[in-house]
Amino acid sequence: MKSPVELPLELVWTSEGHLSDVAMTAIADGEEAILPRDAFGHLGLCDACALGVERAAALSADVNLALGAAATAAATEPTKSHIAFPYWAAMLATVVGTLATFPNFGVLKAWIARTWWAFREGTPLVTRHVASALPHAWSVLPLLSLAAAMLLLLAGLSVARLAPRVTVR
Ligand SMILES: [Zn+2]
Repeated sequence: MKSPVELPLELVWTSEGHLSDVAMTAIADGEEAILPRDAFGHLGLCDACALGVERAAALSADVNLALGAAATAAATEPTKSHIAFPYWAAMLATVVGTLATFPNFGVLKAWIARTWWAFREGTPLVTRHVASALPHAWSVLPLLSLAAAMLLLLAGLSVARLAPRVTVR
């Protein structure tokens, strides 16, 4: 059997002659084969290094436990069920809606004509008002930004409420 590569000595020992963190972690993880034999001699004699290995082992066990818990949580996560979009119902609704507008065509034409008139006649009026109000607009800018912030907040809240959430039982 081929023996695995040993750690270089400068990685095994600290400058004070104790085991390095790398060596302690290796022992805690059961990788003793990569350490020189005298590292274990030191471990048997030095309380500080024995404590370090114990701590590394506890940390390793904690990590394994956490990983195991995460894996279990991922495994028990409910699978999302997809409800197919009701294409036929949507198409039927569109057709019915279109048909229902036909009797109102005359009204629609009148409405478009009136809207166009209001747009054509009203736009210069509105533009003139805006142009005359613009020099005073600076005083309301803080209010506008406050209103925009409130609007953003409302949008965020509604998104948060409408977003689907995963419930783990
Ligand atoms: Zn030591």
